[in-house]
Amino acid sequence: MFLALSLARGSEAPQYSVLIDAKVQRLQADLEKTRDMVEKGILPRTQLAEAQERLDDARDEGILARTLYGSIPMERFTEAQAAEMLGAAQRRIDRRAAELDERRKLLDSGAISRGELDAFQDDLNNRRQVLTLAQNRAKLLNELKRMAESESRMHALFSDKTMLRYNGNGTFSLADLPAISSQFERRFHRPLPVSALGQTLLHQSLGLDHRNRVDVALVPSSPEGLWLRALLEKLHVPYLGFNSAVVGAATAPHIHIGPESTRIVRAGVGHR
Ligand SMILES: [Zn+2]
Repeated sequence: MFLALSLARGSEAPQYSVLIDAKVQRLQADLEKTRDMVEKGILPRTQLAEAQERLDDARDEGILARTLYGSIPMERFTEAQAAEMLGAAQRRIDRRAAELDERRKLLDSGAISRGELDAFQDDLNNRRQVLTLAQNRAKLLNELKRMAESESRMHALFSDKTMLRYNGNGTFSLADLPAISSQFERRFHRPLPVSALGQTLLHQSLGLDHRNRVDVALVPSSPEGLWLRALLEKLHVPYLGFNSAVVGAATAPHIHIGPESTRIVRAGVGHR
């Protein structure tokens, strides 16, 4: 699992998913063969269930290859994909835990060795760590969603105290971002924590035009947030600062670089 994980993080990510696809195809063929032999009475029926389990497990691994180790950037990651990812990680734990229980009985009866049981236990532990990774990714998506919603609801919910506005020269382009982020990195020795770059599916779903706008996961009143705001003002770059959360509203502190997002007018509606 960990080998697969490190492979997937490098430039060879597509290969991992290709590998899993081949495994799924092989197990699908195995299942058909097993079904045939069970129907002919050559193999016991229990083997059919086991072949199905192996196939389901590989399919779930395929889901994780795409949604967790794959190269879907956060701004293209959907809530449906997050749910699919968490489901696959959980099912892979449940399956292994059930198998481990079965193997434990076999150990008691002397049919398998302690070493074989330990290998199952190790694999179960790995699968639990994968679920933690998946949960972290889902948590990040949720955080991004709350930031996007903050922007969507700002007119209704934000007072002057919670939202700061600097109009600057009124324009910003994504091409201006590298200069800003490199200055931040020089000053704080870490990358600018960009949480949304340009239009994202989340902003799209909320009907917000977020093109040529960037969200940065910094509290506007924090030292880093204050430093960034001073830099933006020096460059006359417009921004919005979302400070403390409004009670009862889904909000997340961040700095939105660029002019305020406008509502996307859907085709046809604008002509009425
Ligand atoms: Zn924004």
